[in-house]
Amino acid sequence: MRLRRGEDRRLNGGHLWVFSNEVDTAATPLSGFEAGDVVRVLSEKGKFVGYAYINPHSLICARLLGRDEQHPPGKGWLVHRLQVALSLRRRFFEQPFYRLVYGESDLLPGLVVDRYGDVLSVQTGTVGMERMKPQILAALERVVQPTGVLWKNDGGAREIEGLPRHVEVGAGEVPPTVELDENGVRFTVPLAEGQKTGWFFDQAFNRSNFQRYVAGARVLDVFSYLGGWGLTAARHGADQVTCVDSSAQALGWLQHSAAANELKVDAIKGDAFQVLESLHAAGERFDVVVLDPPAFIRRRKDAGKGQAAYRRLNQLGMQLLTKDGLLVSCSCSHHLSEAELLAAIQKAARHLGRFVQVLETGGQAPDHPLHPAIAETRYLKAFFCRVVQE
Ligand code: SAH
Repeated sequence: MRLRRGEDRRLNGGHLWVFSNEVDTAATPLSGFEAGDVVRVLSEKGKFVGYAYINPHSLICARLLGRDEQHPPGKGWLVHRLQVALSLRRRFFEQPFYRLVYGESDLLPGLVVDRYGDVLSVQTGTVGMERMKPQILAALERVVQPTGVLWKNDGGAREIEGLPRHVEVGAGEVPPTVELDENGVRFTVPLAEGQKTGWFFDQAFNRSNFQRYVAGARVLDVFSYLGGWGLTAARHGADQVTCVDSSAQALGWLQHSAAANELKVDAIKGDAFQVLESLHAAGERFDVVVLDPPAFIRRRKDAGKGQAAYRRLNQLGMQLLTKDGLLVSCSCSHHLSEAELLAAIQKAARHLGRFVQVLETGGQAPDHPLHPAIAETRYLKAFFCRVVQE
């Protein structure tokens, strides 16, 4: 696949994506390729840039797999990439619960692998990766010997690539739930039925830092899912914990984990915005409020509406705080910058006549590393804020 003049520059700077308007379609028409083909990418002058897989029907029409001409992507390449990925996780995690592969950031574009001990939950987000499924299974077998692999391919991003959504067992046996330890709590995690790949590993370090803020506190965990924040608080000395989520199923598993750990939490099922309003109307107050919502901004064009939603949410959360409280405010929207989230928090505070001090800033845990050339690999922000009356 030959590029137009100058279009190799970004790739040489480390980026992995080729956009369809960067291809010299007179020399190499996109219609001459099939989705999933692995090709050599060449500069205008014919210089080798790298190997890539192609999807001629997508705006991102190719993603680089390797830059070493001697080593075209094959089984050895995949095993090597997985080993490099594994050695990073081994450095940071004592137990085998983490994101083993984070797509582009591990130089495996379109592939996500979450590890729950011997069971793996895997997403293939592109046609190129979808075509490599047999090789992926073989390489995972070589590197981590899983007892079960689940293809958890029900995410919306697949539609952009023209892929159907489905969840199916890829190899071995996949139990309906797995267990994992985090911050001294044993969580039960539904795999096929769970959200995304089952557990939000990206927040693990932030939830760990959270422990030191909760002793003796009344804690509200909003958008709790399985209780990652709330049960951590309950375990580490919170006086009382309330979790809010719209999913009855998530709250069911949350209560299951609470009971198994002999912890007590209250759960409220409902829309977070409405629940926060009625808690306020009822005069309830909390020392700690955690806001960890799903992405309100999925596409750039939703940025305006999304920013308003973050602002409103933070205002609703903040007005439930006691006089000197802690707000943990998160966003996993790539299209909301750290500065924009902070601005939303600050506007909410000014509206309520409060003063905010940011005590700590968190991002993705190191099993979700950032690729410096690919801004999209960075998405998670967490601000730990003291909120006081000015
Ligand atoms: N805090 C969690 C992750 C949250 S994921 C953790 O640490 O693991 C987002 C959660 O928000 C999901 O569980 C989803 O069911 C819930 N959710 C989505 N929209 C909601 C809404 N409008 N009101 C309440 N919960 C909502």
